[in-house]
Amino acid sequence: MFRVLKFGGSSVAGATQVSRVLDIVEREAARGRVILVSSAIAGCTDALLGGDPAAIREMKARHADMVRRLFTGSEREELQERLNALFAALWAAPADERVTYGEILSTTLLAAKLETEGYKVRWLDSRDLVVKGDEPETFRRIKKAVEALEADVYVAPGFICREASGKVSTLGRGGSDYTAALYAAAVQAESLQIWTDVPGIMTANPKQVPAARTIPHISYAAALDMASHGAKVLYAPTVAPAMAAGIDIEIRNTFAPDGKYTVIGAAPDPTRWIGVASDKNVIRLVGSLPGFTGGDAPSVTKKKADVPSGASPSAKSDPDGLSGGAHSRGSIGPLFSDQGSVSSGETVAKTLEDAGIKAIEIKEEGNGINFTVKESVLEQALRAIHRAFFQELPVREVNVFIAGDGAVANALIGLIQESAAAVKERSGKVLRVAGRANSRRYGIDLGGAPVIGREGDYIDAVLQAAPKGSLFVDATNSKTLYKRYTDLLQAGIGIVSSNRRSLAVPYAEYAAMHAAARENGAPLRYETTVGAALPILESIARGANSCNEVLSIEAVVSCTLNQILGDYRPGGTSFCSLVKTAAAEGLTETDPRTDLGGRDALRKLLILSREAGVQLEEEDVAIEPVVPSSVLGGSLEQFYAALEAYEPQWAARVQEASEKGFRLRFVSSLEKSAGGYKARIALKEVAPEHPAYYLRGTENAIIVRSAFHPYPLVIQGPGEGAREAASSILNDILR
Ligand code: ASP
Ligand code: MG
Repeated sequence: MFRVLKFGGSSVAGATQVSRVLDIVEREAARGRVILVSSAIAGCTDALLGGDPAAIREMKARHADMVRRLFTGSEREELQERLNALFAALWAAPADERVTYGEILSTTLLAAKLETEGYKVRWLDSRDLVVKGDEPETFRRIKKAVEALEADVYVAPGFICREASGKVSTLGRGGSDYTAALYAAAVQAESLQIWTDVPGIMTANPKQVPAARTIPHISYAAALDMASHGAKVLYAPTVAPAMAAGIDIEIRNTFAPDGKYTVIGAAPDPTRWIGVASDKNVIRLVGSLPGFTGGDAPSVTKKKADVPSGASPSAKSDPDGLSGGAHSRGSIGPLFSDQGSVSSGETVAKTLEDAGIKAIEIKEEGNGINFTVKESVLEQALRAIHRAFFQELPVREVNVFIAGDGAVANALIGLIQESAAAVKERSGKVLRVAGRANSRRYGIDLGGAPVIGREGDYIDAVLQAAPKGSLFVDATNSKTLYKRYTDLLQAGIGIVSSNRRSLAVPYAEYAAMHAAARENGAPLRYETTVGAALPILESIARGANSCNEVLSIEAVVSCTLNQILGDYRPGGTSFCSLVKTAAAEGLTETDPRTDLGGRDALRKLLILSREAGVQLEEEDVAIEPVVPSSVLGGSLEQFYAALEAYEPQWAARVQEASEKGFRLRFVSSLEKSAGGYKARIALKEVAPEHPAYYLRGTENAIIVRSAFHPYPLVIQGPGEGAREAASSILNDILR
């Protein structure tokens, strides 16, 4: 079986490059007989066509240099003499035949080198084998020549041929690719590899569009379309003989032999849009051919005939193969049945318009769109179109493992489903709920449908199952779950928490969690723990991060108390009844004394202060409960009784404040003073000037004073609710 390898001019530009070629040939020769087709060394064809004697002498020097570097001793002398003779013949040849010497020189050198490497080598003279415009005859001759001569590696010049009249000729600029396809078709090669200096056919010319990427698989038709409209990586006439013989064409990079490459084959294109090519100032957006059945574009005949028949459509319209872009396919029926209502032509027009480019003409043609722009904005237009059609935000899938089965967790799951499309559009992310758990059971499913049912340790199971980059959401009220945060963070699993108990831990443990997050590049976010969806922690951290020292924080962040204090009127419903109602509505912590005693406020103050860079501990905070400690003791029943009995004192207290024009608010504060920071939680009388005076319902307010500004930062708004908490968690997930 034969493997046909074609190397372009830049792959044989000098001695270093030739060594890479030898490595590739060695690898392929181990798997079958190789036919190596080569272009002239880079720049040689141009020099020969230009005819400038100085440029041709320079080519002679470059060949001599390669001989010096690649050969030694008598082999070097002998080869140099042969090349000298070839240059003499070149000078003596008619001017229009000189161009054919480039490939003779390069392949003579390559063949000699392969021989010194120990291969049995045969040089095939393409001038005798390739008959211009007569593929059947060409195939016959190549087959016969190869059958007559035994070798490991056959070396054949690309580009050159003979006309039926007997005159030496060429296949057109870039024609070596076509030569390789002719050899491959003639011997029914198992592999046709075009080795070049880019990683295959790309979505655009990388020199014009840096974001271009390799197209791994492309149909013959689309490759032909790209090549016919200016994609230099492949010479258009190459496609037809390979396609007729059913041979895949690989376009590979000599300089990264194991890197990305393109396979051109019979399989239909997987995407609607293939790439963008340009010829002068005409750009073509190349599309796939869904269900294409005929017309004047090539149909895919997968005949594995010994001698493929049929002329290439490109050769028909481009007999000299010199124009590259002249091949035209005409229109093939209804064009753009994209699912959307906007036609692709309109998308192109809109894209150009948005980029500030005026299209001279836009024409839907065949399966693609051609449009003309001023040459000065060609690259700009190419990039805009490429961005619009080939640079969709890469979608990143994020697995979310949720702990907690209460209102917040369930609101979060609902919100993730509801917002999926918008989230994808805005952030390029697809969120997948991969795990769920209550305090006893869990379920994990990377497919996105976990069912709580298994007994066992949820965290261990998450550590087992979660891909790196997953997120763990703590939507529980657990006092101990935070102890596993470090395990998760160390496994590269980020944490989003709405559980303030997890953060209001001794400072050393808080700091250890943050260190684990930093060291493992896994996020640890808990904006929800104070003020639900209000951006409180973020705002404080932002000031602290930019060295804007916090002078004081006043936080009125107990939704429960804000609601109850707002509703209370002396002589109306008793304070105790309001607390009972709030507890029944789930507005308080499970035991309302957590709120009244200041415990919940304390947790929030610890979190707030630490965000401001103050290493506050529980015992640093002076707490005056809303009602005296004596009222708070005993069982829940005893507490309610005591609170009811306390009503007269409470009413008097509120009355006193209101006579002064003040309102009572439960305020957590941190204040810088000479000796450091003072932290306090207490019921305070606030005047109408105070931002917390007008709080409605469960609203929260936070007032931050800093060194740089005379006026405080005030954040006020809804501070509770499962939906708010869920949206805040979602924000942390997406951050
Ligand atoms: N050497 C010729 C050219 O520069 C043929 C080829 O490289 O494919 O056009
Ligand atoms: Mg080429």
